[in-house]
Amino acid sequence: MGRLDNIEGIERGKALGPLTTFGMGGPADYYYRVTDVMKIPALLEACAADGLPYVLLGWGSNMVFSDKGFRGLVIHNLAKHIERDGELVVADSGTLLSQIIQFSLKSGLTGMEKLIGVPGTIGGAVRGNAGAFGLEIRHIFEKALIYDSETGVREVDADYLRFDYRHSRVKDSRELVLKVWLKLSPGDTEAGVAEVRKIIASRAGKHPTGKSAGSFFKNPSGNSVGVGLSAGLLIDQCGFKGTHRGGAFISEKHGNFLMNDGSATMADVLELSHEIQQAVQQKFSINLQREVALVGEHGYLDDAPVK
Ligand SMILES: Cc1cc2nc3c(=O)[nH]c(=O)nc-3n(C[C@H](O)[C@H](O)[C@H](O)COP(=O)(O)OP(=O)(O)OC[C@H]3O[C@@H](n4cnc5c(N)ncnc54)[C@H](O)[C@@H]3O)c2cc1C
Repeated sequence: MGRLDNIEGIERGKALGPLTTFGMGGPADYYYRVTDVMKIPALLEACAADGLPYVLLGWGSNMVFSDKGFRGLVIHNLAKHIERDGELVVADSGTLLSQIIQFSLKSGLTGMEKLIGVPGTIGGAVRGNAGAFGLEIRHIFEKALIYDSETGVREVDADYLRFDYRHSRVKDSRELVLKVWLKLSPGDTEAGVAEVRKIIASRAGKHPTGKSAGSFFKNPSGNSVGVGLSAGLLIDQCGFKGTHRGGAFISEKHGNFLMNDGSATMADVLELSHEIQQAVQQKFSINLQREVALVGEHGYLDDAPVK
């Protein structure tokens, strides 16, 4: 018996597939639903004492678990407290972007509407500097409360997080985002609601439906606003649209959407994604980097450069 076994609310053998938009994932040895972000440090201490790896799961829209599952603790972040503080919105890191947009428009604040339709939590969005239609998290970010086992809980600003295209320092350091302050502005909320409707319609036309984790690779041009090289176009030009490897396939609608037909394994995902990286490297001398986090049985799988 380890320390994790003694924590009330811990579940054993939880199936991870249904908790992600990719829909793949065997059982987690340990699983805990967090509704108070301040409980996360104690869970990580218990993991360290038991010598087990951990993963923080938000909405699961940018992460793919192995079909063999995870031999550690999955902490499911369902902490969703949200409030207004002047022109700031303060949200627990498990709050969905859609919930924050709805809350801010109801409280007379605008500025985040372009992110409607980006699935996921604000914690996951800060980690990857999520963005759409030219707006990225960094444009509205004021500060965050983060945690790591060496420095504990502390407040950090945008300079500390070193935001970049689909990147922040948290991606490398694995510090965890607990709470986020976003700066919005009082504005025309009716126009905001109209923009939300327009964006939802526009996204519905562009994105494939089905099990995916969104764009699988980052755009080599370092942006998502249609300027320069898009990963989807490169993959398309290498002839991968519609290509299947086992249960993993590339959408006919969007070259950068690697999908799961319901039977995909991690081996299928790795085979198809490596084949794509090799083809793009050979044809265009470009090393495509994964945007999606792949989690194997014992932790994150590295994105090794393709030779
Ligand atoms: C259909 C579809 C469309 C998408 N469109 C877009 C888009 O337009 N723009 C865009 O940027 N992205 C897009 N994505 C990707 C995804 O929505 C974003 O990456 C999102 O920010 C992930 O948030 P999440 O809560 O789902 O993170 P998860 O998938 O749960 O986690 C992703 C990674 O972040 C880590 N993480 C989660 N929460 C925290 C936290 N609080 N602190 C530290 N690390 C954390 C996890 O451990 C994991 O490594 C799309 C995905 C799908 C499926």
